[in-house]
Amino acid sequence: MPVNTESYQQLISQECMKNVQLVAVSKTKPNEDIMSLYQLGQRDFGENYVQELVDKAASLPSDIHWHFIGHLQSNKVKYIAPFVHLIHGVDSEKLLIEINKQAQKNNRVIDVLLQVHIATEETKFGFDEMALLELIGSDRIAQYTHVKIRGLMGMASFSDDQKLIQKEFFSLKTIYNKCAQSLLLPAFDILSMGMSSDYSLAIEHGSTLVRVGSLLFGARDYKKESI
Ligand SMILES: *Cc1c(COP(=O)(O)O)cnc(C)c1O
Repeated sequence: MPVNTESYQQLISQECMKNVQLVAVSKTKPNEDIMSLYQLGQRDFGENYVQELVDKAASLPSDIHWHFIGHLQSNKVKYIAPFVHLIHGVDSEKLLIEINKQAQKNNRVIDVLLQVHIATEETKFGFDEMALLELIGSDRIAQYTHVKIRGLMGMASFSDDQKLIQKEFFSLKTIYNKCAQSLLLPAFDILSMGMSSDYSLAIEHGSTLVRVGSLLFGARDYKKESI
């Protein structure tokens, strides 16, 4: 199925999207699909798999902002550190330390989001609230001079239960507000929450960035996914 440029136009013209950043999630999708949205002006794309991201970045226009939104293994940070725009899924201090190290090697400061575990499912990654507040309140943060913690990212439960999803978004926004008060995080301004099925609910609950895939690119071929 080709990329749905009509859905794209419709999405970006919605009132609720006015002050919200759109990351088009292009995992498993071919370069032609990315170029279709690029030609309409889209510059922010999200990928979940390191090798796929590296290949795409090498063959697509250099003014694309690449977001890494998947689960990132420490030993793979080095492959994306030279060019990645924002890493959404930082779910451990160990990973933060590795990103800091690879950023330094590349003479860069890499923007990151800390992932918070808000879903009821065990399968999703992320800090719990206590661990997160401990980390961002600690003076260890000051040593990580080559990462900039820009905000938080979370994924709601995979569920049709709107009440449950709302509750999870509300809880992430509450944690976000607490973190935003920290003097140790001067550049804290991104709340990445919401996907194809729940982006408008996420925006109602304070999301500043939505990650939308299947609504724009059609359903994915799950055989190609390795989560
Ligand atoms: C795949 C993915 C998305 C996009 O999901 P859709 O339901 O296709 O919009 C968003 N965020 C993350 C972390 C993902 O892995």
